[in-house]
Amino acid sequence: MVYQKAKTFYHSEFEETLHTTGLKMALYVYKFGGTSVGNVERIKAVAEKVKKAHDLGDQIVVVLSAMSGETNRLIGLAKQMQVHPTERELDVLISTGEQVTVALLSMALHELGCEACSYTGSQVKILTDSSYTKARIRKIDDDRIHADLNTGKVVVVAGFQGIDEQGNITTLGRGGSDTTAVALAAALKADECHIYTDVDGVYTTDPRVEPKARRLDRITFEEMLEMASLGSKVLQIRSVEFAGKYNVALRVLSSFKEGCGTLITYEESQMESALISGIAFNRDEAKLTITGVPDLPGVAFKILGPIADANIEVDMIVQNIADDATTDFTFTVHRNDYQRAKSLLEQTCATLGARKVTADDSIVKVSIVGVGMRSHAGIASTMFQALAAEGINIRMIATSEIKISVVVDEKYLELAVRALHAAFKLEQGSED
Ligand code: ASP
Ligand code: MG
Repeated sequence: MVYQKAKTFYHSEFEETLHTTGLKMALYVYKFGGTSVGNVERIKAVAEKVKKAHDLGDQIVVVLSAMSGETNRLIGLAKQMQVHPTERELDVLISTGEQVTVALLSMALHELGCEACSYTGSQVKILTDSSYTKARIRKIDDDRIHADLNTGKVVVVAGFQGIDEQGNITTLGRGGSDTTAVALAAALKADECHIYTDVDGVYTTDPRVEPKARRLDRITFEEMLEMASLGSKVLQIRSVEFAGKYNVALRVLSSFKEGCGTLITYEESQMESALISGIAFNRDEAKLTITGVPDLPGVAFKILGPIADANIEVDMIVQNIADDATTDFTFTVHRNDYQRAKSLLEQTCATLGARKVTADDSIVKVSIVGVGMRSHAGIASTMFQALAAEGINIRMIATSEIKISVVVDEKYLELAVRALHAAFKLEQGSED
């Protein structure tokens, strides 16, 4: 398979090798994010890169984001018209950012003598449901794209957008161009979907927190989903789910430097040696506790019901074993929802006759993620020992099959990440 061999070569060398040995012509979907198309010079650089791949004989479909900052700018304009802009109109507006970049890239390709054609989501067409600002893709017509590819054209598609059954323009949620790219790769049965971005791959943790962080050659879909949902913002979560579901080989690479990036794929035997693939963290957490709650059936529902009704997402939940017919109940929410959650919980406290509410919005969540956890014991104790050695108090613990998360005080975030990175020897690399 193409993407397995890529591991041993830098990307361009790898492609050249394939072509000189006449192995195969590949179909790639390349997606470039907002920074990669942030100005005219960068769009020209993308055109050069695309032309190079195309000249080697590959079929290339390019998906683009809007120029960086553009979607925010458009949302800002909308808010000057309406406090809560009408969603249908908002989608008409914010889908324009991508229409600009696809047209400009096509022009840049023409200037280089490369045949190319740009399309909006509705022209392709990318059929979605009618949930404006967060639509889901239902179906993609690939006929027009295949026809263009077969005549040797590069096809350039606007990311982030589609059209519903009634012909209304829709958008796929912030960061949605990743999902467009993966969905197109699935529909076209592309060999790989390359996400070109401003980082050169997925790292064991955020290099700004731990400079010894190492780029991973590979990571599984499951691990990537955990990392993404825990705050590693390399890819839109939905695009990873999509890629996992349709088995689209997904590669994250830098737009600006050569390299083979990180391949996101299914678990393979050679990955088993890595116990932990990465450390993710989330600074946006807040913790709420209600103590002295009468320990009766329905209490968890009475506590969390009003929170759910207020559309506040709850992350970790811990309830203690009761020893005096009362129990303590703790959960975490996003910091943006902290004040609202706190006042709702105070009302619940009064109606339930519970003792009191304590709350803390200066906590963070740090998690270790790895499929290796399934088959190895002692990972949790290694984690707790490493934190203890630094004198870091763990406030909450939660586990899933491939993840262990702890809540610690905000001031320990960097220390905790570095201690865990060292404890699991992530800087040395267990893959190569
Ligand atoms: N332009 C959209 C956004 O900023 C979609 C994307 O870039 O993926 O969210
Ligand atoms: Mg993005």
